[in-house]
Amino acid sequence: MPQIKPAYKRILLKLSGESLLGDAPYGIDLDTAKSIAQEIKETHDLGVQVAIMIGGGNIFRGINGTEAGMDRASADYMGLLATIMNGIALQDALEKEGVFTRHICAIEIKAIAEPFIKRRVIRHLEKRRIVIFSAGIGSPYFTTDTAAALRALEIKAQVILKATKVDGVYTADPLVDKTSRKFSSIKYLDVIKKGLKIMDTTAISLCKDNELPIIIFNLKRRGNIKKVVLGQKVGTRIY
Ligand code: UDP
Repeated sequence: MPQIKPAYKRILLKLSGESLLGDAPYGIDLDTAKSIAQEIKETHDLGVQVAIMIGGGNIFRGINGTEAGMDRASADYMGLLATIMNGIALQDALEKEGVFTRHICAIEIKAIAEPFIKRRVIRHLEKRRIVIFSAGIGSPYFTTDTAAALRALEIKAQVILKATKVDGVYTADPLVDKTSRKFSSIKYLDVIKKGLKIMDTTAISLCKDNELPIIIFNLKRRGNIKKVVLGQKVGTRIY
């Protein structure tokens, strides 16, 4: 009998900006946003509380600006603004699917989003609203992976689900090295020691120190978010 009870009560889903790209080289593909929103809704309908940290890499990454000669902090603020645009697009897509949402932005931007207030966010989740976090932690020199770990801890999510374009954590990049092997689970420290570039080290360390599990899975396989939430063996568990 398939398990129909969710394995988690509250999750934090980390969506990279790239997840909104679809087949486009840049920006937001609205059909892709719609399909992700449908999957998130299906998962939410299981009764699980869903918070999302959205990235910005489909529009701008601070590091690209820095490489082109920009000041790092200024470039990172541009990256943060990119995440806000993605947050607006995702909120729109989710609301079109009929779910209630709240956009929480780490930079004050009153006309668009609320500030982060831990108790208020938890209340939104309890009231069955999907929470979208944008602008990472609101400071340059960080990534939205680290912000996902921080917010997950603050709102007491039981797990971080990190959506990627590969099936999990591999011994080497499976898109480059065809002989690479997938781990079904791997310890935090091994991810760091082996230099596996699945999430930045600050994020992994934060999760390690606070024993917050991370599941890396492939967003391109329809139904995967739901499967992970139902506790099925999908992707790689970092513990
Ligand atoms: N960023 C930042 N502080 C944060 C989170 C993000 O400065 O707390 C900036 C940084 O420039 C980063 C960009 O926002 O490159 C987009 O975030 P990220 O690269 O994490 O997005 P993703 O790879 O998930 O699409």
